[in-house]
Amino acid sequence: MSLRLRLTILYTIVVGIVLVLASVMVFSLVSAFLLDQVNTSLAQTAASLIEVLRVDNRNQFDIRSVANFRPADNIVYQVWGDNRVLQISYPWAQKDPLDDQGLWAGKMVFTADYAPGSNLQVLSVPLKTERGPSGVLQIGYKLDLINMTRRTLASVLTMLTLLAMFIAAFAAWMVTGHTLEPLEIVTNVATHIIRADDLQRRIPITGPQDDEVGRLINAFNQTLERMESLFNSQRRFLADVSHELRTPLTVIKGNIGLIRKYKKVDEETLLSIDAEVDRLTRLVGDLLLLGQAETGKLVLNLEKVALDTLLLEVYQQMKTLAGERVKLEIVEIDQVEVSGDKDRLKQVLLNLVGNAVHYSRAGGEVKLSLRREAARAVIVVEDDGTGIPAEDLPHIFERFYRGEKSRTRSPDSGYGLGLSIAYWIIENHQGGIEVESEINKGSRFIVWLPINPPDPVL
Ligand code: ADP
Repeated sequence: MSLRLRLTILYTIVVGIVLVLASVMVFSLVSAFLLDQVNTSLAQTAASLIEVLRVDNRNQFDIRSVANFRPADNIVYQVWGDNRVLQISYPWAQKDPLDDQGLWAGKMVFTADYAPGSNLQVLSVPLKTERGPSGVLQIGYKLDLINMTRRTLASVLTMLTLLAMFIAAFAAWMVTGHTLEPLEIVTNVATHIIRADDLQRRIPITGPQDDEVGRLINAFNQTLERMESLFNSQRRFLADVSHELRTPLTVIKGNIGLIRKYKKVDEETLLSIDAEVDRLTRLVGDLLLLGQAETGKLVLNLEKVALDTLLLEVYQQMKTLAGERVKLEIVEIDQVEVSGDKDRLKQVLLNLVGNAVHYSRAGGEVKLSLRREAARAVIVVEDDGTGIPAEDLPHIFERFYRGEKSRTRSPDSGYGLGLSIAYWIIENHQGGIEVESEINKGSRFIVWLPINPPDPVL
């Protein structure tokens, strides 16, 4: 059964229950009110009749005193004395008591019988005089009109309830149809995406953005967006990896061809093969590391690392690389200790300083600093080199992303993996890495790491 049908049925049933309860209440109230009116009228008639009823000189009820009593059209009465009926109201020729039990009740009683078919509401009033005679006055109220009113009321209420349920069902069917329409579209688009493998499609939001359906569509569209970007990056990644693998393999294959052709191995060929194998090994190592980092499986050998010592080591190592071409200096160094994987942190620093040196012009300056700032250590690597174009900035931490200028392959050019690896390493240390750069002015890479909380004093 469809959700639309289920909601419609549920809504109609709820409306039906409420209306039936309301109808029963209205019917009972009206019935009680009418009965009350009848009883009041009976009591008034009884009082008027008793007022005119006299006792004759034979100590009997004097029927003549009430002979001219004319009650309302729908009221009849009987006067009983000595177990026989003394007087009945015109035109009723009924000699049986209007209410058998009321006759012997010995007190004023209304027949509470209000069942269908009973056409009279009867009031029995015992008659007693000080001088002896006793009897009963029974007054009946013809309920035909009231019963008709009740029947009409019941039919009107039933019809109204049925009509209201029909309208409620129709309204619920239309409203749920309209409300669920976007879900139908979501289902169709999802099916289309699965069938056609088309992640570019989005679901249009026709209604308000912030209601339940709008939020669902938004969430669905965001999921599609994420899936599309993952899919694309997966595709790009595969293309990049195959591209990066092909070049060294072609070089190696070419060199082997030369060896085979000339039947001799010269040092230059061997060096070239060696360099390409090194590049391949680096690429595979980087990919493995990145894979581990991105799946959260990067195992860090955590220990206490003195960042100042580490920075000095990196400085010494990179000074050789910078040589005379670039001036490398440490402008500030605090003593800071963090908990981390020393080799991985060194890898990050080598990459950042390596890039800074690589993208510096001859005579450029690369400044390193390590500062303790509240609960974190801040390392800054700053150069005054080529800078990074604004359009490249948001992407440089992506895998295989290389700026326009770095895309031409040179023996020492990287694969565009260094910064994404650095990003993941720092992320796995609960730290952060940021970049500020301006084209032709230089770049500033800022790494921050949380400092060990001090050991508790015992
Ligand atoms: P690569 O191995 O190509 O250097 P990275 O991931 O380390 O890969 O860097 C990605 C890209 O970011 C580089 O190709 C380069 O365009 C840009 N980049 C990184 N560091 C710097 C820097 N200090 N100055 C200018 N550009 C930089």
